[in-house]
Amino acid sequence: MKIKLIAINARYSHSSPALFYLRNALEHKIAGIETEICQYTINDPYYILLQRIASGSPDYLFFSAVIWNSDLTGRLIEDLLVRSERVRIVVGGPQADVVCSGFDDSRVTCFNGEIEAAEGAFFTDLQRRSLKKSYRGTFLGLRDKTLPYPYRPDDFLTHLANRAVYYESSRGCPFFCTYCLSSAEKGMYHKELGDVFSDLDDILAHSPQTVRFIDRTFNDIPARAVAIWKYIQDKNPDTLFHFEIAPDRFSDEMFAFLETVSPGLFQFEIGIQTTNPDTLAAIRRPIDAGTAGPVIRRLRNTENIHLHADLILGLPFETAATFRRSINDMFAMQPHYIQMGLLKLLPGTQIRQQAAEFGLQAEARPPYAVFANRWVNAEQMAELFWIGECIEQCVNNRYFPSLWRYLVETGEDIAAFFTSLAGRFHEQGYFWKAATQKTLCRLLLETVTPRDDFALIRELICFDWLRCGHRYLPDQLVYGQRPLDELRRDLYHRLPQEIDGLFTAAQRKNFIKSSVFHEFSKTCLERAGWRPDQERTLVCFHNDREDSVFRLNKIALLKNTD
Ligand code: SF4
Repeated sequence: MKIKLIAINARYSHSSPALFYLRNALEHKIAGIETEICQYTINDPYYILLQRIASGSPDYLFFSAVIWNSDLTGRLIEDLLVRSERVRIVVGGPQADVVCSGFDDSRVTCFNGEIEAAEGAFFTDLQRRSLKKSYRGTFLGLRDKTLPYPYRPDDFLTHLANRAVYYESSRGCPFFCTYCLSSAEKGMYHKELGDVFSDLDDILAHSPQTVRFIDRTFNDIPARAVAIWKYIQDKNPDTLFHFEIAPDRFSDEMFAFLETVSPGLFQFEIGIQTTNPDTLAAIRRPIDAGTAGPVIRRLRNTENIHLHADLILGLPFETAATFRRSINDMFAMQPHYIQMGLLKLLPGTQIRQQAAEFGLQAEARPPYAVFANRWVNAEQMAELFWIGECIEQCVNNRYFPSLWRYLVETGEDIAAFFTSLAGRFHEQGYFWKAATQKTLCRLLLETVTPRDDFALIRELICFDWLRCGHRYLPDQLVYGQRPLDELRRDLYHRLPQEIDGLFTAAQRKNFIKSSVFHEFSKTCLERAGWRPDQERTLVCFHNDREDSVFRLNKIALLKNTD
């Protein structure tokens, strides 16, 4: 029997761990079975995708249906049933019910839950080619649970080559957020630490670029999280590890360890969702901003872990005003990346059942994004959405860290700032075309032109521009300073033959040639986090990057005597 196991991923770099679990379970239960893992992307040309899936006359096609591929999966199944009369189809994944509800065909079977917990009849029926309409498996409901390692050595050379490796050390989630499918599952399972370590040994032997832990709350047991982190750090791998973290489960031991982590080894995704207490209560998320804020700020201090934090737009009891406050609170927490996603009314979640109560209006088809509710009308929702898009373009990069820091420290209403910036994006069409760093500088400067602190903001933007490694200034950042080349030529004559810690006499010429120099005010440098002792300071931007999350160019403040 020939079975193709199919995942249609959002991007080529993603992989689908479910297929590997499924392959192992099928080959273990059914002797002589022939399986093939097939990973495609939602952007593949449709007709070619259809032909590739149908090729080789498989007996069964197993699809993994998730929110981003369920429409496409349904369309493919409809055509495959016509194209290949003998093919039978099994649909699993969180959207299995939704996809299968579109087919009244005995050749389509719906599998709800996890294959590791499949009812015994499933494999027997599959072997007899007599699958029923639906089956179920509830992993967390099993008495004797084990989570086998899903990968084989060959997988790293084939299905996982140039893709992120997904790994789970635990299943289930200790929280019950009403908008999340994981909240419907009760209980948690943690793999034995020894097994996790040997799984990691195997993964690291293949030196993948990225490993994404898919544990829903990786640090639900702090000591266990530290043990796994330490194990990884001791291996000193050239791999980035991604973890989903709850901000209320941090211990001093965790902070102490995390300060020692090399930049580029870990990145954390932290769900904040909102800072409005009424909303947090309504969605059953018992983590308040008073807990999350200090944790994120403390992690940010060491600049060694990339911090990605999420807000959700469209939640119950969140007004436009409270959401704007959530944005301001989020900036004050200082993550590196702020994602503002729309609430999705996923089938099977509690919040979907509360849609009428909360006046939630959402897209009829996946991903079921909300466009209005009792507290925020469609126009307000759209305005807040564009603020999120503007933040995505301007903040979620390394272009302007000193500017954001300045706005936070001076108590700026950041949501209002981005409302005005989003207006400019609209006027000039930058939500529909790509904006370069230079264009973003211009849009920001145009937005702040009427302000009293315009000159300081322009200096901060100039400082950030040079820290990104540029060797020239765009027109909008030229404001009467000496041209960079002229300043450099002058420094060949002015600088001493050697400066302790910067260059020796032998290095002098090359040092000046490879560096960029610019003078900044004391206020600007202080706002950017430096401590100059002169009113005007010459700053040297090295041709060398810091070992930190943003990998900005290193700088040195030169004294007048230098
Ligand atoms: S913490 Fe995350 S995974 Fe857990 S229920 Fe909430 S949203 Fe879902």
